[in-house]
Amino acid sequence: MTTYFEPGLPTDQPAFDPETAPYWDAARVGHLVLPFCEACQQFFWYPRGFCPRCAGDSLAWPEATGRGEVYSYSVVRRAFGEWAEYTPFVIAWVTLDEGVTLLTNIIGCSEDQLAVGMPVEAVFESGSDADLPALRFTPA
Ligand SMILES: [Zn+2]
Repeated sequence: MTTYFEPGLPTDQPAFDPETAPYWDAARVGHLVLPFCEACQQFFWYPRGFCPRCAGDSLAWPEATGRGEVYSYSVVRRAFGEWAEYTPFVIAWVTLDEGVTLLTNIIGCSEDQLAVGMPVEAVFESGSDADLPALRFTPA
């Protein structure tokens, strides 16, 4: 029997920062936008109000494809706190088509599907009291 990684992982409310409002405004309606530095002409992750390379604050927030591939992953079978009741779950590094790599969870996937290089697509999950959804990925 293979393990299936369900959606519905805990989604803690992140601290809202007005500098990242374009990201959250898009996420609330299920769209992934990425911060793009107009000086460097490169995407970066995580969303913030300035470029981590040049500290420039001239940013654009273009919509991303929402697609990428698993760079690496781990199946978590023991966890602390509220996450303990959701084991096993998957933590993964996903590299997006735009070139940024981010830490996330893979959901809606069985363990025998999981693989480095697996194509994935973005999904947003909201907790019961969370206004700001969490970015997760599912097999494409
Ligand atoms: Zn820059």
